[in-house]
Amino acid sequence: MQTLIEKAAQRLAGERRGAAMTGAGVSVESGIPDFRSRGGLWTRFPPEEYATIQAFRRDPEKVWRMLAEMEKTLDASSPNPGHRALAELETLGVLEAVVTQNIDGLHSRAGSRGVVEFHGSHRTLTCLWCGNACKREEVRQLPVPPRCSCGKVLKPDVVFFGETIPEKALHDAARVADTCRVLLVAGTSAEVYPANQLPSRAKRRGALIVEINVAPTLLTDSVTDIFIEGKAGEALPLLAEAVKRLL
Ligand code: NAD
Ligand code: ZN
Repeated sequence: MQTLIEKAAQRLAGERRGAAMTGAGVSVESGIPDFRSRGGLWTRFPPEEYATIQAFRRDPEKVWRMLAEMEKTLDASSPNPGHRALAELETLGVLEAVVTQNIDGLHSRAGSRGVVEFHGSHRTLTCLWCGNACKREEVRQLPVPPRCSCGKVLKPDVVFFGETIPEKALHDAARVADTCRVLLVAGTSAEVYPANQLPSRAKRRGALIVEINVAPTLLTDSVTDIFIEGKAGEALPLLAEAVKRLL
């Protein structure tokens, strides 16, 4: 693993135009289960049943039972060494952006500034029926599910299955993929479209693809140039250390 980390660090330090794309795996060590973990949230609330926009429109009260549990998990979580290492790589001047599929806000809390929240965020909510928008804080005191002044149930601004990606996030992520020279792909199964298109897009534009995951994924044998098998919370800090030594 050390040789592969060294190789990736050399390219990052040499090019100084890196970016990262992250998935649920980088937050597993913060106590937030990914879709593939046994037990936990997603076993009791299967995403195909609770995380689709059709489910929300049909029965928002039911979907809020999952959202309320998810919020409890998010409230209890804090950034781990993997999030902090990505923030440090940005401070070192070798990483321009983190495109994340996560809605937990942990990259920003760890200090990353160039964060593209591809699947939105749970910090704001919108009413699908009248278009009203508000901050989560503003409706914290309301009983769950929180309701809009029009009486309908509010939806957090996270992208549910069946919804389109916010225009700005799509645009920003495409720019990142087109301009980075090294892309760190960490903790994602690369099974969720269209986020999973970004690594091959970056590769076509000549970027080196460095994948960090505890197990091989759909990308490993096709798109990935360097596969670092390990936990994001362990491999990313080693990578940041190696870059620091080279600068
Ligand atoms: P996923 O659940 O499909 O895959 C997670 C990947 O992370 C797997 O490949 C797994 O092997 C890997 N992994 C697990 N622990 C790891 C660790 N410690 N270090 C490195 N890799 C590890 O996640 P996805 O690809 O992000 O797609 C799922 C969708 O669900 C996304 O849209 C995501 O936004 C959403 N989601 C978000 C959160 C969150 O915000 N934290 C949590 C669950 C799901
Ligand atoms: Zn409304």
